[in-house]
Amino acid sequence: MRSWTTTNGTRIFLVCSGRSNVYLVANETASFLVDAGMFAAAPLVTHGVARTGAPAPSYLVLTHTHFDHAGATASLRRRFNLKTIVCDHDVKFLGCGDSPFPEGNTRAIRALMAVIRRPGELMMQYPPAVTDIPVRGRLDMGPLGFDGTEVIHTPGHSMGSVSVVVDKEIAMVGDTLYGLALRSVMPPLVDEPIKLFFSLCALRDTGARLYLPGHGPAIPRERLEKLIDELS
Ligand SMILES: [Zn+2]
Ligand SMILES: [Zn+2]
Repeated sequence: MRSWTTTNGTRIFLVCSGRSNVYLVANETASFLVDAGMFAAAPLVTHGVARTGAPAPSYLVLTHTHFDHAGATASLRRRFNLKTIVCDHDVKFLGCGDSPFPEGNTRAIRALMAVIRRPGELMMQYPPAVTDIPVRGRLDMGPLGFDGTEVIHTPGHSMGSVSVVVDKEIAMVGDTLYGLALRSVMPPLVDEPIKLFFSLCALRDTGARLYLPGHGPAIPRERLEKLIDELS
């Protein structure tokens, strides 16, 4: 299983990497999940968590509430007795299991989204779940048992997008960066382009060396810097 360790010894595991990535962040005594994956991914995530040998997770941070990241929230919440941590903007979407998708950045992607949106509407819904800790701007996870970990608001792909920054070294960014395209790490779907630019700068300013996206492999800092240069 792919994993990373910060110089402080915090471990991050890629516990599931099907349609979207699910990460487990663990120290000696506790752990938490970042994203839940699709509705059908719950058993894979549970299996992945067991394989890490880390303490069972007690929290779930959702980078945002699109179905491919939040679909399994309700069942994982039950399975591990998790407390959910979600941007305050997305609490209502998680609460009804339906989070609207952004329009595409290009005419081609917008046309594609228009075609798949209607028939896809049902597919994009999932069992609703409660938010235990809403994030307003920023959340220090130190008091929850995770010193050096922060959740920061990184709107752009969607208004309710957040990123999890561990030990100022590794950031899990959901769909704020996209790891599956060769040429650019720009997400293909963006709700708020200007906000996205400032979120990318905020991610760069965390000083992190590695960015773990919701889709695709780890992104080195240089690729984020290159994207910011291109957009400037
Ligand atoms: Zn998304
Ligand atoms: Zn996604």
